[in-house]
Amino acid sequence: MNDLTVNRQTFDEVMVPVFSPAAFVPDRGEGSRVWDTQGRDYIDFTGGIAVTALGHSHPELLRVLREQGEKVWHVSNAYTNEPVLRLAKRLEALTFADRAFFANSGAEANEAALKLARRVAVERHGEDKYEIVSFTQSFHGRTFFTVSVGGQPKYAEGFGPQPAGIIHLPYNDIEAAKQAIGPKTCAVIVEPIQGEGGVIPADPAFLRALREACDTHGALLIFDEVQTGVGRTGHFYAYMDTGVTPDILTTAKSLGNGFPIGAMLTTKEVAAHFKVGVHGTTYGGNPLGAAIADKVVELVSAPALLEGVRERSAAIKAKLAELNERFGIFTEVRGKGLLIGAELTSAYEGRAKDFVNAAAKHGAMLLIAGPNVLRFAPSLIIPQADIDEGFARLAKAIEEVVGATNEAHAK
Ligand SMILES: *Cc1c(COP(=O)(O)O)cnc(C)c1O
Repeated sequence: MNDLTVNRQTFDEVMVPVFSPAAFVPDRGEGSRVWDTQGRDYIDFTGGIAVTALGHSHPELLRVLREQGEKVWHVSNAYTNEPVLRLAKRLEALTFADRAFFANSGAEANEAALKLARRVAVERHGEDKYEIVSFTQSFHGRTFFTVSVGGQPKYAEGFGPQPAGIIHLPYNDIEAAKQAIGPKTCAVIVEPIQGEGGVIPADPAFLRALREACDTHGALLIFDEVQTGVGRTGHFYAYMDTGVTPDILTTAKSLGNGFPIGAMLTTKEVAAHFKVGVHGTTYGGNPLGAAIADKVVELVSAPALLEGVRERSAAIKAKLAELNERFGIFTEVRGKGLLIGAELTSAYEGRAKDFVNAAAKHGAMLLIAGPNVLRFAPSLIIPQADIDEGFARLAKAIEEVVGATNEAHAK
């Protein structure tokens, strides 16, 4: 091995081709700016897909990473550790929950939640109560159980027989939910805002109806807050602004600001059905990840930070409205806090990716949420100056796509 020169092309030569990364290769980041390996800078509106809630290279997180890194990284779950106990206490003080299970990702947190719900139903009601209710277009991760529960069949098909006992209902359809949730239902799992599915907020009345139906039929209500959690909506968890409290909440993404960590939060009564040895993980709750997440939770839960999320949300929505006045490319701008989706008009059907590519060319990082929606999930502390600069770059990118489209039509 003598040539270790790598670039974007190397990806296609050495990686399992499940991703199609951008043409540029990020090299370092600071706050809401990222520099690629060529030294070009980008305004980061992606936050690593709703992960880097405090931006890149946050000085307090760097300090914790260094301090805990020099103490101990990993001890296994044969031992506990102080950082994970502090993190659990902090989350419990902030939420409805009084028990936590730590994992390494959102999918694993959901896997734990779904297994726990099945176990609770079997132990409390018997073998016939196993049905999991989920919603079309939902996303809950990429393990086999979570893609089967998720509402996008293309992620679950082609892998052989799927786990049984899962039904999918239309999102925000109260009548369908009332009819389908019954004595066989063991759990309902729902995103308070569907993230990957297109940034689609749940109606508060829909969430209340799910809560009621679950209570009537002894089913557990699971909120998947992997994307909406940890300050993203301007509330520490989205459920806090809905008037509905789940029995189980899953959280990951922003929880570690990029250090892989996920958690399942629940009540003491529900947690009691997971006994020693019933579920587990090697890395979950390791002291390094827990110490970082503890600092993230401390900083993000500050009321001033959450207020700042709501202000930045308004600023970005105003910018999007301006762009739309100029270019008329969006049918709707929706979402909450710093999880914002802008749906393209039919003239740009299926072309969200073209806007993302053009944005990259002009120095802005942007996400899609399905083929027709541009998604913004930046750092929760993105400075106004970066919002301004990012939107100036975005305007140039949009001008280019719109111009090329009009030219193509004129021909
Ligand atoms: C990203 C996401 C997941 C999966 O999280 P991973 O860390 O990628 O496993 C699950 N649920 C929702 C709502 C998500 O947005």
